[in-house]
Amino acid sequence: MTGYTCLPTPVKFVVMSITEKYQQLRAEIPEHVTIVLAAKTRTAEEVAEAIAAGATDIGENYVQEAEEIYHALGAQAKRVRWHSIGAIQTNKINKALEIFDVFQTVDSLKHARALNTRAARIEKVLPVYIEVNIGAESSKAGIPPEYGKLEHLVHEMAQLENLKIEGLMTMGPLSEDPEVSRPYFRAAKTMFDQLRAVDIPNVNMHVLSMGMSASYQVAIEEGATMVRLGTIVFGERYYA
Ligand SMILES: *Cc1c(COP(=O)(O)O)cnc(C)c1O
Repeated sequence: MTGYTCLPTPVKFVVMSITEKYQQLRAEIPEHVTIVLAAKTRTAEEVAEAIAAGATDIGENYVQEAEEIYHALGAQAKRVRWHSIGAIQTNKINKALEIFDVFQTVDSLKHARALNTRAARIEKVLPVYIEVNIGAESSKAGIPPEYGKLEHLVHEMAQLENLKIEGLMTMGPLSEDPEVSRPYFRAAKTMFDQLRAVDIPNVNMHVLSMGMSASYQVAIEEGATMVRLGTIVFGERYYA
């Protein structure tokens, strides 16, 4: 047997529960900012705990995962708003409409029309946000960060009677350092304010959805009215 090095007494980590984490964040984040919990890869039990802790809004990237959790939660699912925060294929829109209350990732007139047609069939007026690819990254969805293009899309989408444009959503380049995100968030806020200054019928632009676990504080400083948090509440994700 070889000898072994005696390690110092381990530092004790205080592992906070989902309940404690959510409630701490809710107390810290200004009231006018909505917290959407990004629940991808999480179990129904984890989401149930978050809802019991007071979560009001749940975001899901995948229709099938949302559907499984939604049904597993039963009556509890109806106490919260469900946000679609991922890309949705046209053939999944009908299914998605059974679950989601808000679609945050509309980024083309084609996509908007596909949603509008299906919302019309079920006589629903659907709140939607337009996703802006604020960093103009080829890996990301969203319309290019050009104000003229954005306003043009808003005018065209405003004609669609079963959609209601309520906000902008953006991701921004991912970085461990939140300061990297700041100029992108600022640019998104500028576009948001420009749009708010134009009076377009059938548009009620009031939500700016930006900021995730690593960047939500900077996003709020730059004017976010909604943040989308996953890891900071639920812990590290091990897949997807
Ligand atoms: C996963 C995800 C989030 C949350 O990311 P975290 O870094 O875990 O907070 C926010 N927005 C979207 C669109 C996501 O897919």
